[in-house]
Amino acid sequence: MNSTPGQESESLVSVRNLYRYFNVSGGWLDQISISKGKMVRKVEMVKALNGINLEIEKGEALCLVGESGCGKTTVGRTVMGLLSPTRGSVHYRESRIDTLDRKGMLPFRRKMQMIFQNHHASLNPRKTVAKTLLEPIRFHQPELSLPEQRDKVASIMESVGVDAGWGARFPHEFSGGQRQRISIARALIVDPEFIVADEPISALDVSIQAQVLNLLMEAREERGLTYLFVTHDLSVVEHFGSRVAVMYLGRVCEVGQVGEVFSEPRHPYTQALLSAIPKVGGEKRRHVKLKGEVPTPIDLPSGCIFHSRCPHAREICSKEAPELVSAGEWTDVACHGVRENWF
Ligand code: SF4
Repeated sequence: MNSTPGQESESLVSVRNLYRYFNVSGGWLDQISISKGKMVRKVEMVKALNGINLEIEKGEALCLVGESGCGKTTVGRTVMGLLSPTRGSVHYRESRIDTLDRKGMLPFRRKMQMIFQNHHASLNPRKTVAKTLLEPIRFHQPELSLPEQRDKVASIMESVGVDAGWGARFPHEFSGGQRQRISIARALIVDPEFIVADEPISALDVSIQAQVLNLLMEAREERGLTYLFVTHDLSVVEHFGSRVAVMYLGRVCEVGQVGEVFSEPRHPYTQALLSAIPKVGGEKRRHVKLKGEVPTPIDLPSGCIFHSRCPHAREICSKEAPELVSAGEWTDVACHGVRENWF
């Protein structure tokens, strides 16, 4: 797989052939129906992830992008161990982590942190900010003395732009932007190496989105952090990401260095997605309008899952699923047409 230009490739997190299905059949009685006088049981699965392979390199910000329902949040949650894979594996450096129990996962809990979209739900309304920030230190760094723990809380609050004197306040006493800064502080306070950020700015006012994004970028530079950044916002990808993986119906259709993918998208779905935004410098792109609707993830199309909407589809596309193969200096694409130069 292609990697980040100018960087020695060293995977921090690897996702291998990841599948995640959700049973949406309801209770046993909901699954039963009568057909031609016989009792039939029907189990329905939402196929959220369908063979995802990703290598997240140390120090990079890999953005996962795609429309709502494409599976990007499921990737983030599965990497963090909040969901277990139906098939496939997740690795942190050389350790496989998706099969670990709570105790086995403990050493990785400190290295891997998550920032959620919903800062209302991610902070306990009954705990002061100081208590919220002290808890993870006490758990992961019990060797620190109380004054050292308090110093660490004060310094992390200052570093995310929240007055350290406000530690005795409760979450509802802060604005949305400040609450998200506190959520970021809680993730950073245990000195992680890797952060999954799931739409961390999309619930914030537009006026403060850039400030919080800059805070995340500064943290990356100062602490050498690695990000898996889940977003539907292409301008955020352009601003924040070093690489981008474009997802459609639970598969990666294109992954590559942000500049290369944005200047020359190769997969027809990436081309359609990017046609909605102007190029750097304001130049307009040719608008690509896709036919039809996104198929249901309960009943995935055969072959290339994009074939029912693709303007370049040929017979092979409905029969054979294309593999991700190198299609540019820093880009891999899963498309028969790109591989065979149809367009
Ligand atoms: Fe389109 Fe075929 Fe490429 Fe799929 S494999 S994106 S259907 S050309």
